[in-house]
Formats: sequence, structure tokens, C-alpha cells
Amino acid sequence: MSDVRNVIIIGSGPAGYTAALYTARASLKPLVFEGAVTAGGALMNTTDVENFPGFQDGIMGPELMDNMRGQAERFGAELVPDDVVAVDLTGEIKTVTDTAGTVHKAKAVIVTTGSQHRKLGLPNEDALSGRGVSWCATCDGFFFKDQDIAVIGGGDTAMEEATFLSRFAKSVTIVHRRDTLRASKAMQERAFADPKISFVWDSEVAEILGDQKLSGLKLRNVKTGELSDLAATGLFIAIGHDPRTELFKGQLKLDEEGYLMVDAPSTRTNITGVFAAGDVVDHTYRQAITAAGTGCSAALDAERFLAALA
Ligand code: FAD
Repeated sequence: MSDVRNVIIIGSGPAGYTAALYTARASLKPLVFEGAVTAGGALMNTTDVENFPGFQDGIMGPELMDNMRGQAERFGAELVPDDVVAVDLTGEIKTVTDTAGTVHKAKAVIVTTGSQHRKLGLPNEDALSGRGVSWCATCDGFFFKDQDIAVIGGGDTAMEEATFLSRFAKSVTIVHRRDTLRASKAMQERAFADPKISFVWDSEVAEILGDQKLSGLKLRNVKTGELSDLAATGLFIAIGHDPRTELFKGQLKLDEEGYLMVDAPSTRTNITGVFAAGDVVDHTYRQAITAAGTGCSAALDAERFLAALA
């Protein structure tokens, strides 16, 4: 059993690094798969983070993640910048396979693979992320005080983002590709009643305009093909998230939207010895601090599970 680790952590955002920090400090020598391309998680793609406690003047996303990484490493977490491509979680000893085909074994696994916000797929989208383009009103709304903002989407999230943003913004324009909303009646009514919110129906974003910063959008009417310009210095894309759970299908229990299910308030999944934390579980809060918090819970759950085995 010497090649069997105590714990393997899959994913390296705030949830994964926090789980790594706690399990490392508990002398469990965690092996952490950080991901081949996106080590550090979602915050690597943003600029200022002003709502992670402990940083009075805010901190840049990549710097925050470098700090978390270094802190986990300092206590002995073994970090591997690679993807996990297959897992077998069903037995007492779990196996995790990396891209080279090497099989790693562990008694416990913590899943923190996060979720991917859906993108429009337009050329300027990534370049202007954090420079006017955002996927999170709670995170970034404050930066758009007295500005003209566009929100893309027609579901509950889009209505929630728009009504939240209208507190700060000069105006909020919801752009939706149909002529009716998918959002619940209550959410729709709140948005319709808000004097700062207006709607552009049957329209999609054809182009995101701006060089170093967002300056506006070119919209296309999907029925007539007609193009129009919308001036905006903020763009919030609220067309959904995809939890990264492909690897776990058929083994771990997923909800109808594909998120991992846990025995809340614990982080235990349906398989003994497998724990899950962060945005791969959470469709409600989706914040760095909540991901870090549940990462801590997963580490403590794994620690207790391993202690009971000994
Ligand atoms: P993630 O950060 O998504 O990390 C998951 C990690 O797992 C990734 O590195 C991924 O590569 C890795 N992974 C996935 N699959 C595998 C695999 N098979 N093998 C190995 N690794 C894998 N929140 C705030 O609190 N404040 C903010 O200001 C803020 N700004 C944001 C700005 C942007 C642009 C975005 C997108 C999000 C922002 N958020 C913010 C939200 C915050 O980033 C997330 O809530 C948080 O990162 C979720 O952490 P996580 O650890 O669950 O997952």
C-alpha cells in the first residue's frame, strides 16, 4: 500500500488550494492536480478582487491565486500542473489517471474542478474580461457605478444580475435573443418594474467593441438581421455555467444541471471517501470565499474520514 496516497485533490481554484493547505497542514501530503491549462482557476482571468477578506486594498486575481498556491506548497502539498483524464472512485482505493496515463491511488479524493461560465464566443470577449466584460455582478458590479451596462440573457440569473446592477448603474439594458424571458414570473416582474432597466428583444451580440476597454456592443436582430449599436462600458454575460463534472458521470451523483451533489452541510458525495467543494457543487453563491470555505470543509471531512480508517 506504500504507493497509496492519503488524499488526491482534483482542481486548483480557491476550493482546491484551500483543501490542499488544510490537508497539508494535517500532514496528509496531498497530491493536487491543478489542471494543464488553467491552474489557479477562474480568478486567473480577472483583475481586481475587492471582496476576498484580508486584502484591504484589494488584490489582483492571479496574485491571490499565487499566494494560495504558495501557502499550500509551503506546508508540503505536491502540486502537479496536469489534468486528470479518468477516475475510478468506486473502490476503497480510488484511482486517478493523468494525461501521461499514470495511475495514482488514494484513500480519499476531493473534487474541486469548478464550473465554466458560458461565453458568447466572440473575438474580444477574453481580451476585455476584467476590462468591462464580466460574468459576475456580485464580484464586479461596484466597478460600474453610474455607467451604462448591458446584461445578456433571459433567465433568472440575468434578471438577478440586472436588478442588482441597477443599484449602481446609470442604466441597464437586457439583451435577449427571444421576445419572452425564461426567468421566473417574480424575477421578470421585478426587472420590468425597475425604471433603470430596459430591454432589447430578439437580439444577440454580434461584436464586442473596444480596444483596451469596452466601449459598446454591436447587436444583431435575429429576426431581421438588422445591426445596431449599443453604447455600454459594462457587459455582464449571464447565459449560464457548466460544472466540470464530465469525469465523474456514472460514479458521483449529479443534479439535473450537472452539479455534484453532496450531503450538505458536509462535503460528502454519494461515494464513501470522496468529497466535493466549490463551484462544482454550488450554483447559488459562486464566490472565491465560499469556494475556499467549502474547500476547508472538504479537507476537514477527508481528515476525519482518514482518521477513522486508521
Ligand atoms: P475554479 O476557480 O473554477 O477552479 C477549478 C480548477 O479545477 C481550475 O483550475 C481547473 O483547471 C481545474 N480542473 C478542472 N477539471 C480538472 C481536471 N480534470 N484535472 C485537473 N484540474 C481540473 N469571486 C469572488 O469572490 N470575487 C471576485 O472578484 C470574482 N471575480 C471573478 C471574475 C471572473 C472573470 C470569474 C470567471 C469569476 C470570478 N469570481 C469571483 C468567482 C470565483 O472565481 C469562483 O467562485 C471561484 O474561483 C470558484 O472556485 P473553485 O475552486 O470552485 O473553482
